[in-house]
Amino acid sequence: MTDLHRLSIRELSEGLAGAKFSSRELTEHYLKRIEKIDAQVKSYVTVTAEQALAQADAADALRRAGGASVLTGVPIAHKDIFCTQGIKTTAGSKMLDNFISPYDATVVAKGKAAGLVTLGKVNMDEFAMGSTSENSFYGATANPWNLNHVPGGSSGGSAAAVAADLAPFATGTDTGGSIRQPASFCGLTGLKPTYGRVSRFGMIAYASSLDQGGPMARSAEDCAYLMNVMAGHDAKDSTSVEKDVDNYVANLNGTSVKGLRIGIPKQYFNVAGLDADVKARVEESLKKLEEMGAILVEIDLNMTESYVPTYYLIAPAEASSNLSRFDGVRYGYRAENPVDLMDLYKRSRSEGFGKEVQQRILIGTYALSAGYYDAYYVKAQKVRRLIQQDFLKAFESVDVIAAPAAPTTAYKIGANLSPVEMYLGDIYTIAVNLAGLPAINAPVGFDKDNLPVGLQLIGNYWSESQLLSVVHQYQQATNWHTQRAAIAEENA
Ligand code: GLN
Repeated sequence: MTDLHRLSIRELSEGLAGAKFSSRELTEHYLKRIEKIDAQVKSYVTVTAEQALAQADAADALRRAGGASVLTGVPIAHKDIFCTQGIKTTAGSKMLDNFISPYDATVVAKGKAAGLVTLGKVNMDEFAMGSTSENSFYGATANPWNLNHVPGGSSGGSAAAVAADLAPFATGTDTGGSIRQPASFCGLTGLKPTYGRVSRFGMIAYASSLDQGGPMARSAEDCAYLMNVMAGHDAKDSTSVEKDVDNYVANLNGTSVKGLRIGIPKQYFNVAGLDADVKARVEESLKKLEEMGAILVEIDLNMTESYVPTYYLIAPAEASSNLSRFDGVRYGYRAENPVDLMDLYKRSRSEGFGKEVQQRILIGTYALSAGYYDAYYVKAQKVRRLIQQDFLKAFESVDVIAAPAAPTTAYKIGANLSPVEMYLGDIYTIAVNLAGLPAINAPVGFDKDNLPVGLQLIGNYWSESQLLSVVHQYQQATNWHTQRAAIAEENA
């Protein structure tokens, strides 16, 4: 078959089960596409062809022996932030250019146990800091819809790989929008789960109270299959929550759009930088949901103006602490010929970390320092609580909250926005992480330059099934999610 890359996860699962194709054929198909097309997209940092084929053969053997489960033999790409035993894990940084983890992240281990075949590791902003994937030591990844534009970030490699049909789905992580914003920029569906739903063990830390892994795919249905693998309590992550996991696939029709109360925050649609096309497409998608029976309710989220300053204090503060472990001594990059210990620390860190990461470590260290701790970090934590309360109050009168995923479509590569301009682009995503809530992005059309626009739906705690279900039903009634970038039409 020449069009294996067009099949959904359900179709792949059924095709493998019905012996229409083998995992080896499917894996070879994807590897061939990567070889032919990824020179233009640059989504993969590492392609693990040999291991992938061995995993595919093992999957086929397991199937012949009658031991296959629903995803046995289906390929996946992992964001290069998840540790993979024996395979380089870089987090997009020179600091980890030589790092091979001695163990698998729980998400990776669960993927292996489910029979997924790892095609490779995909690009990202260094240590997940950024919104374009340009902050990678390995260079910029291109947006499959227009190669002169960024795929978003930090999970830009995951988004670009799926949007170019170089992987059927991928893992991502979201500290302040890194699943939802690249999904929006690349016309994909991406789910940021409730904090604690997916294990962070073996996921390289950026800001630990905000980081959460999740699925990125072409549809809510595809995301549901990956959520069934990723979600669940993990004794190795003390912040992962002991709570029953839903069957996200079985629940895809579990929530009726009829009567669903969708909150529209007044403040969100008056943001200065909100692009007119983005606004129009999001409003059209809400109209469609209304036609399907949803009730649109105007709500207030009064803390909107404090999102960006609060996040950009807390995230760098936690990053400065997390990244202190990279000292040139234990693992990672080490400066050559140090004259003494201080020189080793200083040069390893200045040579190993890129500019954005260094900037955030400086800001975070400053905010945590003795004289400023109360004025900045403690205050930000208090505001964080107010932001959470704002959402909880809203959820007393609505079921989900609608927003754009980002105020604009994908930027041009090299646009070189100032840090403040760049950070303001995160306004619609970061509050969700500060509150620990789940949220999903769904593609809802294109701007005048044919770049994808995304609708974000934010749910109450543990409402992943509901979010997937609402988007699934929207996708049954529309076809934005089936549109493909021109480069994905190319056959290998
Ligand atoms: N763009 C945001 C940042 O740079 C979010 C990144 C993320 O979610 N990892 O911090």
